[in-house]
Amino acid sequence: MKIGIPKEISAGETRVALVPSAITALTRNKHTVLVEAGAGVASSFSDSEYQSAGATIVGNAVELYRASEIIFKLNPPQMHPQTGKHEVLLMNEGATYIGFLAPFSNLDALRQLAERRITSFAMEFVPRLTRAQSMDALSSMATVAGYKAVLMAAHHLGKFFPLLMTAAGTIPPATVLVLGAGVAGLQAIATAKRLGAKVEAFDPRPAVKEQVKSLGANFIDMEVTEQVETAGGYAKEQSEEFLRKEREVIAARLPKADAVICTAQVFGKRAPVLLTKEMVHSLRPGSVIVDLAAESGGNCELTVPRLTAEINGVSIIGAVNLASALPVHASQMYAKNITNLFLNIFPKDSTTPNFDDEITQGSCITRDGEIVNAAVRNALQAEGARK
Ligand code: NAD
Repeated sequence: MKIGIPKEISAGETRVALVPSAITALTRNKHTVLVEAGAGVASSFSDSEYQSAGATIVGNAVELYRASEIIFKLNPPQMHPQTGKHEVLLMNEGATYIGFLAPFSNLDALRQLAERRITSFAMEFVPRLTRAQSMDALSSMATVAGYKAVLMAAHHLGKFFPLLMTAAGTIPPATVLVLGAGVAGLQAIATAKRLGAKVEAFDPRPAVKEQVKSLGANFIDMEVTEQVETAGGYAKEQSEEFLRKEREVIAARLPKADAVICTAQVFGKRAPVLLTKEMVHSLRPGSVIVDLAAESGGNCELTVPRLTAEINGVSIIGAVNLASALPVHASQMYAKNITNLFLNIFPKDSTTPNFDDEITQGSCITRDGEIVNAAVRNALQAEGARK
């Protein structure tokens, strides 16, 4: 099959969906890889590297989409500024799309995908099974973001992270508070520990305590009386009473914290508010909050996505798409994930997806002119009812 890799067009995006080193896994299975000229430049992969790896370079987006049966993308389809056409309309009718789709905030594009009988697979919906770990782009991007968030905090803080014993005196380690210890939070903890900080963390899911402790961080204990975990291992939306208690526990740690890394999210919902305006005032001037939940509403009430606000000397960083700040490795990880997903959807020599497979079925959003994912269909119905 002909797989097309367009240049990503989202503002500030530096990643690319496929890197040269991932091409052999596709050409070995007799697929052809077409790459839009300059697609990898922002992540330091030149056209000639793609060519040497076996890809064909195509001059522009229109030609690339026209020549491709399958599109590998990172960001959900959107209006293409150079062509003046939506990316869904650039794709061939009946083509296949694999990439992030942000289904709940992109319902119009999903309708268009269905209308054009495009079979689409969303990276967000790859089921979190052990077998699907190598296809889990959410985890890959969260790993990058957790790492980068700590480096940003260290960069903004006017203090060292590690304990230093110098002739000019002893400098105590910085204290880092990590809220939410999923993939991004655990990576943030590990990175802050490597930099020598004293780290504390909280997450309501019971399994997390041991993971936090195994990284050498202190787990903040709080009595959890409600069921906070779904059968799939995700956090559920918590009650207001739970969040009120949690804010009390967090508030007690803030006067000593130098950096707070916020990573608490509930899939498909607004992120829980864990730091109110009043709580920010109890941080010392010079402290830093990096809010990775900025795009889903923010864990801090004062977060502004994409901006760094300064309130009473406290920097609040509304971090968005941090994975783009490390494009080489973020693209490399994503390329592995999307290639593995593709090879699972289309196993050797097959040109039609096997929908009996749990991963193929779970990640499919549109097929045969319909939106087939139940959660997305419900969201569409709810939107219709609201209108
Ligand atoms: P996420 O990005 O949806 O959420 C981040 C974290 O925020 C989660 O740990 C969640 O518990 C936490 N959180 C939610 N409400 C909170 C609150 N009020 N206070 C503090 N923290 C709060 O989740 P994620 O990082 O993508 O993944 C979460 C979990 O999913 C993993 O830890 C793991 O158990 C599971 N997972 C499984 C696989 C797999 O098996 N393939 C892969 C990745 C993740």
